[in-house]
Amino acid sequence: GVASVGRRFAEGKRLRLQAHAESTYIMVKPDGVQRGLVGEIISRFERKGYTLKGLQMCICDKAKAEEHYKDLAGKPFFPNLVEYICSGPVVCMIWEGTDVVKAGRNLIGVTNPTDAAPGTIRGDFGVEVGRNLVHGSDSIENGAREIALWFGSEEAVEWEPTMTPWIKE
Ligand code: ADP
Repeated sequence: GVASVGRRFAEGKRLRLQAHAESTYIMVKPDGVQRGLVGEIISRFERKGYTLKGLQMCICDKAKAEEHYKDLAGKPFFPNLVEYICSGPVVCMIWEGTDVVKAGRNLIGVTNPTDAAPGTIRGDFGVEVGRNLVHGSDSIENGAREIALWFGSEEAVEWEPTMTPWIKE
């Protein structure tokens, strides 16, 4: 029955993100958490057809924020960015599925919410670039780097939704 199927997928499969599947790091930033958009954001990835493989909440410290955004260390907004990311709880997620890095960025919308298309998360809910609600990895390599930064080896969960054949050919 369903219970045994669920158990079978859960047993002994912690942190082996499937080598063949693409994954990305998505994070609800402190403004998204404060504004009660966690469920909305998760829902958009779920209904698209992606699979949640890791989920946790934390308050980021300065060193981790600086590491996460190290490519932007030279930007004038960097200190404010680090302060923003550390200003309250964030919700950290691993999402997996076909082309999820690119499609995740499409669901989120471009960096500045003013320019983000309606229908995207930033386009629907954001106003300013310094309060743009959500992060999504910009490449497969950065996805792997960010997942390793934010999730310990026991904190991702390997499982496969039973409806996968209705989402992937
Ligand atoms: P994205 O998050 O869309 O990948 P970037 O990697 O360019 O965008 O920037 C990382 C984050 O830095 C943005 O999501 C935003 O929070 C912040 N940021 C980017 N540009 C600016 C800016 N001009 N002013 C203030 N904050 C910015």
